Amino acid sequence: MYAPAELLQELRAKGITNSKVLQALADVPRHEFVQREFADFAYEDRPLPIDCGQTISQIYIVALMTSLLQISPEDTVLEIGTGSGYQTAVLAKLANFVCTVEYHSSLAAQARQRLDGLGFTNVHYRVGDGRTGWDEYAPYDGIIVTAATTTVPKALADQLQDGGRLIAPIGNPSTEQALERWIRRPDGFEKSSHGIVKFVPLLS
Ligand code: SAH
Repeated sequence: MYAPAELLQELRAKGITNSKVLQALADVPRHEFVQREFADFAYEDRPLPIDCGQTISQIYIVALMTSLLQISPEDTVLEIGTGSGYQTAVLAKLANFVCTVEYHSSLAAQARQRLDGLGFTNVHYRVGDGRTGWDEYAPYDGIIVTAATTTVPKALADQLQDGGRLIAPIGNPSTEQALERWIRRPDGFEKSSHGIVKFVPLLS
C-alpha cells in the first residue's frame, strides 16, 4: 500500500466510500507519476505539474471521477487525456481493459513506460486528438475525459454503450467547469452534475 492511511481517511471523509476505488488508490504508487522534485508531495491531495504544461489531477478528483464511472471488472473504459498515466493506472486496476488517448506524444510515451514498468498489461495507448474517441474498441462501458471542454464531443457520446457512463468537466475551459456524468439510456442521456472542478483545456 502506497497511499498513507491518513490520505484514505481524508478521502472517506470527503465522501469516497467505494472500497474498490479506495483500494486502487492505495495500490498505485503516485510518486512514480510526478516529477522528481514534487515526489515529497505525491500523497498530498493536490494537483501537481507534469510536462507539456499539463497537470496530474488532485487525488480526490481522481477518486470522485473513478467512483462516478461505477466500473465492473469486465468493463472496457476509454480515457481521454493520459497525462502522467496516474488516472489510467487507477482505472486499469478496476476495469478489464483501458484505452487511453493523449495529445502530446512525449507524455504518452512516458506514461506507457511507467505503466509497463509497473506491470500493467491491460492498457492500449494512442497518440492523437481524443475528441474523436477510439472507434476500434467501442462501445465503452465507461468514458472519462480528463480535460475541460464546453460540450461533450459527439464521437464520445456515440461510443458509449447502453447503460455506459461518461464523466467529463463541462464548461469554460479557461475558468471552471461542472463535473458531469452522462449515462446512456434507451431514450437519451441521463445527466447529473457533481460539483465544480478546474481542468486544463481539451486541446483541438
Ligand atoms: N489524467 C491525467 C491528467 C491529465 S491533464 C493524469 O492523471 O495525469 C489533461 C491531459 O489531457 C493532458 O495530458 C493533455 O495533454 C491531454 N489532452 C488535452 N487535449 C487533448 C485531446 N484533444 N486529446 C487527447 N488528450 C488531450
